[in-house]
Amino acid sequence: VTVFDHSLLRLPFFDDEHRELAARLEAWAEANRSRADTWRGRDPTFVVRAIALQLGEEGWLDYAVMNRRTGAGPGPDFRSICLIREAFSYVHDLFDYVFSIQSLAGYGLACFGSDAQREQYLPALRAGRCMGTFAVSEPEAGSDVARIRLRAKREDAGFRLDGQKAWIANAGVADFHCVLARTSDGPAAFGMSLFVVPQGTTNLEVSPVELLAPRPIGALRFSGCLLPHTALLGKAGYGFRYALEVLERYRITVGATAIGFCRKALRAGLTRSRERQIADGVLFDQQMTKQRLADMAIFLDAASLLVVRAAWEVDTGKVDALPRHASGAKVYATEGAQRAVDDVLQMFGAAGLVAGSITEELYRQVRSLRIYEGASEVQKLIVASTLR
Ligand SMILES: Cc1cc2nc3c(=O)[nH]c(=O)nc-3n(C[C@H](O)[C@H](O)[C@H](O)COP(=O)(O)OP(=O)(O)OC[C@H]3O[C@@H](n4cnc5c(N)ncnc54)[C@H](O)[C@@H]3O)c2cc1C
Repeated sequence: VTVFDHSLLRLPFFDDEHRELAARLEAWAEANRSRADTWRGRDPTFVVRAIALQLGEEGWLDYAVMNRRTGAGPGPDFRSICLIREAFSYVHDLFDYVFSIQSLAGYGLACFGSDAQREQYLPALRAGRCMGTFAVSEPEAGSDVARIRLRAKREDAGFRLDGQKAWIANAGVADFHCVLARTSDGPAAFGMSLFVVPQGTTNLEVSPVELLAPRPIGALRFSGCLLPHTALLGKAGYGFRYALEVLERYRITVGATAIGFCRKALRAGLTRSRERQIADGVLFDQQMTKQRLADMAIFLDAASLLVVRAAWEVDTGKVDALPRHASGAKVYATEGAQRAVDDVLQMFGAAGLVAGSITEELYRQVRSLRIYEGASEVQKLIVASTLR
């Protein structure tokens, strides 16, 4: 099991530029294989900043923050983003984490931002010198985005923000926040707008939260933050639409991350099962072990096809069935990856639970994928809503 399945890369879903990118990613993965060893015990805030600079210097963040691509229109190439997330999560989840949040924070600016906003943030975001957040969730509004309450009241000089955001990735390191707020009293999803809020704005408070896998996640509290009119991102009243576009596209790439974790788990499971002496042979000789590994390999084939189909649809503008395909890819890949990681941990026995072991790390890292950017139940509701 290597970083990529080359039989998939040969399919017409990919172009030669993707195959060339995959080859570069394989070389990168080899060179960065043991990089995480130098991070042990270090503050995740320091680590993610160092990773952002590395990815910026190496040019990977150009893919995160493209504002034009050939084909269907503005926005990055999602097949490339999926390949990068798959390779990064295969190497270490913090590489994937940094790349994904730079992408989420940059998408709104790249696709809907003014020239001035793009010039101010995108070059630094690409270089990894600047980090952002994409802040939608609130303590009372996660799955149901239409319930958000953070208020942006229009005043003569601009907007005044009051309210909270919860579970925001990069809250503890970001230089700016893309914030979804309510600008009018329109019902549910109507009357929301996106804003760019610089970190350090007076009356903006950040509180860190510790999750299962260490990352600089936290809550944001806005207590009368004053913003100029130029802080509005895109058109007023379009915030919900923009946020859904970002989430629908990026949830495909969460599926790619799940595949990277699963390939890493399968590789560990294969190695372990071929080495561990059981009965008259090794663990791999047992039928139940073979069945487990075969299930994982079949799952990987199916999940990879679902993910690349949805990414190809975005890239080529064939988006009629995208809600169903993006949600289906995310839920299938993330649920299956969690099962696979659990199965591999089981194959390791007690050794699989040791802190710092590959299985213990994967177990913590894979868990959040079934929740963020839309919980599995929500994805299934989207798929069901398209059935006729
Ligand atoms: C690691 C991590 C990073 C995150 N980063 C960000 C970020 O950068 N920006 C951001 O805005 N948010 C972020 N989030 C928040 C994330 O988007 C929300 O956690 C997610 O949308 C679920 O919302 P909730 O946690 O409020 O759960 P709730 O909405 O309270 O849902 C709880 C559970 O109820 C179930 N459920 C929900 N709706 C239904 C339904 N209709 N039918 C049946 N069951 C249902 C699901 O199992 C769900 O897990 C992050 C979360 C995590 C874990």
